[in-house]
Amino acid sequence: MALYKEQSLKIYNSMSGEKEIFTPINEGNIGMYVCGPTVYSNVHLGNCRTFISFDLVFRYLKHLGFKVRYVRNITDAGHLENDADSGEDRIAKKARLEQIEPMEVVQRYTVDFHNTLQKFNNLPPSIEPTATGHIVEQIETIKKILEKGFAYEVNGSVYFDVLKFDKDHNYGKLSGRTIEDMIANTRELSGQSDKKNPQDFALWKKAEPQHIMRWPSPWSDGFPGWHLECTVMSTKYLGESFDIHGGGMDLKFPHHECEIAQGEAATGKTPVNYWMHANMLTLNGQKMAKSTGNNILPNEIFTGNNPNLSKAYSPSVARFFMLQAHYRSILDFSNDALMASEKGFNRLMDTLRNIDQLPVSNTSSFSVDEWQQRCYNAMNDDFNSPILIATLFDAVKYINAIKEGDEKISQQDLELLKNTMHDFIFEVLGLVDSTIVNEDRTQKLSGTIELLIKLRAEARNNKDFATSDQIRDQLLSLGIQLKDGKEGTTFSVE
Ligand code: AMP
Ligand code: ZN
Repeated sequence: MALYKEQSLKIYNSMSGEKEIFTPINEGNIGMYVCGPTVYSNVHLGNCRTFISFDLVFRYLKHLGFKVRYVRNITDAGHLENDADSGEDRIAKKARLEQIEPMEVVQRYTVDFHNTLQKFNNLPPSIEPTATGHIVEQIETIKKILEKGFAYEVNGSVYFDVLKFDKDHNYGKLSGRTIEDMIANTRELSGQSDKKNPQDFALWKKAEPQHIMRWPSPWSDGFPGWHLECTVMSTKYLGESFDIHGGGMDLKFPHHECEIAQGEAATGKTPVNYWMHANMLTLNGQKMAKSTGNNILPNEIFTGNNPNLSKAYSPSVARFFMLQAHYRSILDFSNDALMASEKGFNRLMDTLRNIDQLPVSNTSSFSVDEWQQRCYNAMNDDFNSPILIATLFDAVKYINAIKEGDEKISQQDLELLKNTMHDFIFEVLGLVDSTIVNEDRTQKLSGTIELLIKLRAEARNNKDFATSDQIRDQLLSLGIQLKDGKEGTTFSVE
């Protein structure tokens, strides 16, 4: 029987502001969409936190036995500099500054994004669609919204009519804003742009002559508005109504509000059942952001090369640090906090490595079943990873007590304890024991050096001393020293 039938999962729905019992539209199947990155620069640690938060969600849903289709997009067009409908396209601007093609920018930072998330041991999504790959579908959706009367065309651009939509559909229901507040707080005066009202947002923008990222459409050569791609790609791959939509807290308004408006206007249906928002990673109390420079790059963590850090930390330690906070809480980054996480992480891994040496008894002096259910309860309570981690440390205490002879465990319970710890630590939290990774690397390195030693011997036999010396010298410059002896050649690594 699938685990999800035994466990009652609750998810905090940003739409209702409450934790709700999770029921998918189709039993056993889940459609989940998460807003992906705009690929115009390297992802910072804050971005990574949001993607790690949803990786935890994805992993736990899969662990419960759900079949999850996880769609996460790549924004490679349409995201203008100031998040609103004016300014330069972020990718086009980077391309202009670096004098390269926009698609070179996209490629470079998509690869960086994938490499980085892989280091954090994030699972890849099931589908990763791009905005530029779905221009045709975006044009079709704009046509539908126009037909339904919720959009209008001006000078080759198409805008969503927020005031008209609000009459029957309550624009602002996710972020809790009212149109009146929005009107009161707006600085843009109507009449200054093509929009009927400053609250309206672009579905299609006519491209200025210098705008290089442009596509033909019935209205103009132009490009889609930023919010549209998510509506179009989520609908295409998950249906007009789907289960979970996630993203960082900062996307709630206007991005997700606009997605709801577009979806409801195009199909008449509520697009999303559960809205999930991950909270921000801060540095010195301020949100980590690309634009302000107040951020840390993942590579700086892995190398320790940042003034905020006293040393390097492994990706798993950084991941563990993030998972020690609940995804809906703000988390402030600091070297001290990372150091504490590293200590905890190492303790957890040491315990796991020694679990097989524990003495077993005929009976157990504590209930492993009850402890296991506490692990599930933590995750069932809106993916509460800090409580889960605290519960895993309860197991560490049990294990130490068993070693000391203060508690007893049966063989069967020991298996259950071990398997549950493995499931939650590796499968659900997605942590990696770095000593195992290092052993694997060491093996690969040794194999490579042995191969070079063999090639060098062959070169010497052929009297090709230039090649054999080159192998020895270049290895030496990498800190690998070859020593020729009677038994053959050995090596040492600095
Ligand atoms: P962007 O590439 O700017 O669209 O951001 C990609 C994702 O990272 C979005 O879901 C943002 O909400 C999220 N994000 C941006 N800054 C932070 C931060 N400081 N902490 C957590 N998530 C963030
Ligand atoms: Zn989005």
